[in-house]
This record gives sequence, C-alpha cells and structure tokens, in this order.
Amino acid sequence: MGKVLIIGCGGVAGVAIHKCCQNSDVFTEICIASRTVSKCEAVKKKLEGMTKAKITTAQVDADNTQELIALIEKEKPDVVLNLALPYQDLTIMDACLATKTNYVDTANYEPEDTAKFEYKWQWAYRERFEKAGITALLGSGFDPGVTGVFSAYALKHYFDEINYIDILDCNGGDHGYPFATNFNPEINIREVSAKGSYWEDGHWIETEPMEIKRVYNFPEVGEKDMYLLHHEELESLALNMPGIKRIRFFMTFGQSYLTHLKCLENVGMTSIEPIVYEGKEIVPLQFLKAVLPDPASLGPRTKGKTNIGCIFTGKKDGKERTVYIYNVCDHEECYKEVGSQAVAYTTGVPAMIGAAMLMTKAWDKAGVYNIEEFDPDPFMEALNEFGLPWQVSENPVMVE
Ligand code: NDP
Repeated sequence: MGKVLIIGCGGVAGVAIHKCCQNSDVFTEICIASRTVSKCEAVKKKLEGMTKAKITTAQVDADNTQELIALIEKEKPDVVLNLALPYQDLTIMDACLATKTNYVDTANYEPEDTAKFEYKWQWAYRERFEKAGITALLGSGFDPGVTGVFSAYALKHYFDEINYIDILDCNGGDHGYPFATNFNPEINIREVSAKGSYWEDGHWIETEPMEIKRVYNFPEVGEKDMYLLHHEELESLALNMPGIKRIRFFMTFGQSYLTHLKCLENVGMTSIEPIVYEGKEIVPLQFLKAVLPDPASLGPRTKGKTNIGCIFTGKKDGKERTVYIYNVCDHEECYKEVGSQAVAYTTGVPAMIGAAMLMTKAWDKAGVYNIEEFDPDPFMEALNEFGLPWQVSENPVMVE
C-alpha cells in the first residue's frame, strides 16, 4: 500500500517498526531516520528477512526543518510517524506542511527550556494543514492515544452523554532496579515532577505534585497506590467530550520510585536550568538521564503487567451508567514478541495503528486532530488484532 517515514529510533520506535513489519500489507516500505543512524541500522538488520516490507535507513537532525524537508522530498513517504521527542514536533510538522505529507505523533509539543506541555502550539497549525489537504493526528500512543479512542468508543456505543472520566495508568511491572523510568527519563521526570491538575466544571484545578493519592485494585494486577497527574489528553477530551463535567488522570508509582525522585529533586538533579560544570554548561536532568538505565534495556528484566484504561460515568436513555474499558499487557510477553517491555509496547502498537489509519484512509480528513475526533471502531479492531486486546467491564469499583 504505502511508505512510512519513522523519525526517532528509541524504545517506542523499536516496537512501532516491529509492528509496521507485521502489518506489511499496509506498510510496504519503511524508512527509519534518526539522529544516530547506527540504531536505525541495527533495527533494520534485526527485522529484515522477517517481513515483506522494504526497510531503509537515514540520518536526520529533526531539529532542522530544512534537513527534514530534504529527507521527505527524497523518500516521498505517505505518512511521517514522529517517534523522536516532543521537542521536535513543530519542526517535523513544518516539514510535513512544506511537503504536503500526513503527520502522526504520540506526545504533544513541549519547549525544551520550559517543562510545560500544551496543545496550543500544534492546534495553531489547523488551518494550514486543512488548506494543504493533509492530516495531522496528534497523540497516537496509549495515553494520550488509546485513552482517547476508548473515550470516543464509549460515547459511540455505551452513552448518550459522558459526564465523568477517570483515566487510570497502572504499571504493575518490576524491573529490579531501585530507580529507572520506563520511557525517556528526561520526558518522564519532567512529567511526573510537575504540578498535577484536573478538569472540573469548565476549569482546571491545580494540585501540588503527587498531592492526591488513591488506592485502586486493578484487574489482573492487584492493589496499587496511584497519584493524580496532569496529562495531555485531559486538555483535548475536555473540549471534545460533550457534557463532560470532570476528567482526572491517575498513574501508579511504587514507594521506591517516589523516594528516589524526591531525593533527586531535593539535590537539584531534576532541574532543567543549565549549570556550569568544569567550564561546560550542562542541564542536570540531561546528565541524570545519561546515568540512569536506558528504558530500552529494561525489556529482559521486567516482570508483571500493565493495566491502562478509563472509567466512564454518564447517561444512556436517561439512566446513569458506568463502564470501564481497559487493556492488560504483560511485560514478559511483550519482550518475547518484540524484545521490549510493555510501556514501549503499549505506545508503539497504537503509533503504528494511527499511521495505518491514515495510510489506508480509514481516517481521512484534512486538518489537525486529536485521536478522539475520529471514528474509534477501526482503531479498536486493530488493537485486538495487533496485540492490545481490550475489555469492557460494567459497574466497576469507582475511584473516590
Ligand atoms: P527514546 O529516548 O528512547 O527515543 C527517542 C529517539 O528520538 C532516539 O532514537 C533519539 O535519537 C531520537 N531523537 C531525539 N532527538 C532527535 C533529533 N533532534 N533528531 C533526530 N532524532 C532525534 O524515547 P522513547 O522511545 O521512550 O519515547 C519516544 C516518544 O514517545 C516521546 O515523545 C515520548 O514522550 C513518547 N511517549 C508517548 C507515550 C504515550 O502513551 N502517548 C508513552 C511513552 C512515550 P538518539 O538515539 O540519537 O538519542
């Protein structure tokens, strides 16, 4: 069918590339381009021979729009799948506009010098993408991503109106390290050390980091402590879910992770303010990233399961109803299949599916969209087909 250009070759990209290879009727050609081309070549070497798809590699600095334009003009992909870091979203969107190419990502733009992610920068491209006749699909990972698809699916099939959404992200996995992050440590620590917030009655309510704690008994994982965080899909779902009164996001953290994080914060290691060390400017958080385990190396040692889903409360035919839609993913099974742990897997699979939705034109409208603005049904079917089967439970235990 067509060609995808994947930018970035880290933990999430490794899974997405694997999954594109499994879906080679749709992805007949895959070009992997990243800053460190040797990583792209290693993935190509591993997967060639296991797929009908033709794999090529390229070196690119995705901070440089001109380099990206030249690469896109040379490769002529149907879809660009951005799996680099949130800092590169706008340069890649600029290059897609200049070359009239469809765009997909998994995380919204965040300026490197301010730890604040928001959709406003990417939503500002709406009219230009519409005029160019191309699509930007924002946030096609698990959260954001599948959580938005679950929301659209719940609204389409279970409710006339959804009033409350609680998004619960549980990682019951254990990698055996006292402290490590499951995806890019810099992005992860920026996210979890920020203030929390939730949407209620038309406005944001801000909390201190980790101020709100709840305990939840997750299907197939068990009881875990979880904490309220700000998360990017809250912003788009607050606009796109008619009748919504409150949306919250909770993520589980173990005590060892929180104790280490607090200590690192207290000594200044999570700061993004540059300091001068032996005559050279360094950012403490980037230095910390360099000494922490690479998330891609956690695959062989992580045991246990993730459970990510949404609890919806709303009305159907005038009656109140509650529905929980979730996926359970096993770290060891993921490693057996693609050589990665479940956090990269649960992000890489939906990234591939989002790109496939545009490639096959199952989703076909020009402009910049969040994932819940499309028909959820073909995406939900693909989740079952490509390794992230979901379950629906009526009347679940509620989060207080
Ligand atoms: P990694 O750090 O493992 O990989 C990032 C990749 O991007 C690396 O290959 C890196 O290159 C490359 N890269 C960074 N800067 C540039 C640049 N300027 N030019 C070209 N390539 C560049 O990150 P992850 O795979 O863990 O995460 C990828 C994305 O997925 C992130 O945006 C993250 O926020 C998002 N994510 C989304 C989730 C969701 O559910 N929606 C969940 C988890 C992650 P190099 O190898 O040279 O460093």
